Amino acid sequence: MTARVLVVDDILPNIKLLEARLTAEYFDIITAMNGPEALAICGEGKCDIVLLDVMMPGMDGFEVCRRLKSDVATAHIPVVMVTALDQPADRVRGLDCGADDFLTKPVDEVALIARVRSLARMKVSLDELRQRALTAASLGVPNKLDKALADDGRNGRILLVDDRPNSAERMQSALSPHHQVDIETGPQEALFRAVEEGYDMVLVSLGLKDYDGLRLCSQLRSVERTRQTPLLMIADMEDRQKVLRGLDLGVNDYLSRPVDRNELVARVRTQMRRVRYAEALRDNVQASIELALTDPMTGLYNRRYLETHLAAMLEQSVRRGRNLVLMILDIDHFKSVNDSYGHDCGDEVLIQFADRVKRVVRSADLLCRIGGEEFIVIMPDTSLSLAQTIAERVRGSVQAELFPIEKGARAIPVTVSIGLAQTTPDADPDALFRRADKALYRSKNEGRNRVTSDAA
Ligand code: GH3
Ligand code: MG
Ligand code: MG
Repeated sequence: MTARVLVVDDILPNIKLLEARLTAEYFDIITAMNGPEALAICGEGKCDIVLLDVMMPGMDGFEVCRRLKSDVATAHIPVVMVTALDQPADRVRGLDCGADDFLTKPVDEVALIARVRSLARMKVSLDELRQRALTAASLGVPNKLDKALADDGRNGRILLVDDRPNSAERMQSALSPHHQVDIETGPQEALFRAVEEGYDMVLVSLGLKDYDGLRLCSQLRSVERTRQTPLLMIADMEDRQKVLRGLDLGVNDYLSRPVDRNELVARVRTQMRRVRYAEALRDNVQASIELALTDPMTGLYNRRYLETHLAAMLEQSVRRGRNLVLMILDIDHFKSVNDSYGHDCGDEVLIQFADRVKRVVRSADLLCRIGGEEFIVIMPDTSLSLAQTIAERVRGSVQAELFPIEKGARAIPVTVSIGLAQTTPDADPDALFRRADKALYRSKNEGRNRVTSDAA
């Protein structure tokens, strides 16, 4: 895992030191000697991680961090504060500014590399998601990223795995004003609950009696349901090696005992915000997938989806020995609706037409708009005679009531012609389509506003 690390410090020897260590681990290094320079580099998207000195003349590290984290263009870049002061108050102040982590000078080499690696890994997966979400945004998917960035990281459901009653209760009381915290003492029960109850975050003590807390962390990472759940280790001084192993396993962060209440609250909040941001990215990607597969006007699936999905549905119906029927619908003389009332009225008719068909077909039926005024319904597990009944119902519901247009100012009659075909053992989608289309053609030829089934 390699990444481009921006080292920001006003003192050149400090930069040289970090540069040497990180270069030895094959990270790419760029440097800046003051806040504004660092902001400019980040703004141009030139780095993956920032190591940020706190004490700098002019704009200090806290301010740089605050600015980075409040700008949508840079908020996703992990920031590690590097400070000479190892005061809990400073850590908390940095975390309040949105910093992802802390290193204390003189910087411990192992901790440095472990931290940078773990953040680089997180950044790579976030970048990929972020890229897709930006594509989604450019396609017009409503963007929830701003809201996610403004999230205060509160109101999480947290599972705390700790078998020392005093310590567990102290942490619970620190977090309770902001979150709902459940305590679990048994590691097996903890795994079960985390998977079953879907917590937003899990805190694991590495000092469990007769059990290796790291094992629980690695189990949580290997189960699908908890793979993305933020994990935080609570470590004793002598757990150093374990902490490094844990970060390598994908644990997101750790706290050392004695646990500082404010630092606990701040780190939990940072993780909560991070996971919510990732969720918002994933939602955007999901929405863009839906956008690619649905018709924006009617909300129905589009032709691309149908073509992919029909093959799977056909294959399944053959495997199970069930009948499947394809219904093709085409609005009658739709061109004259456009010609007489305008294209917008035509659109109103299409939207209402889709709604009427939706109401008649069953939930297992797949309804798609494959062209201008052409629709398809795939009906799995359906006999031809049942399909005929449903098709008649569709035809009837279109004819039964006039279609309001011009926002209800007037209403016009609309009818639909329908063709049906059922599967044959060869399950060839193209042939099924052709037969349904032929049946539709007959409906049109024989006067429209009718249902015809393929004879085969
Ligand atoms: P038939 O009964 O033979 O099906 O006649 P028709 O007029 O419905 O068929 P034709 O295929 O000749 O015309 C379809 C019309 O649908 C032409 C096109 O302008 C219109 N159309 C296609 N897509 C849209 C759309 O998204 N909105 C609107 N308003 N009209 C559309
Ligand atoms: Mg047509
Ligand atoms: Mg038509």
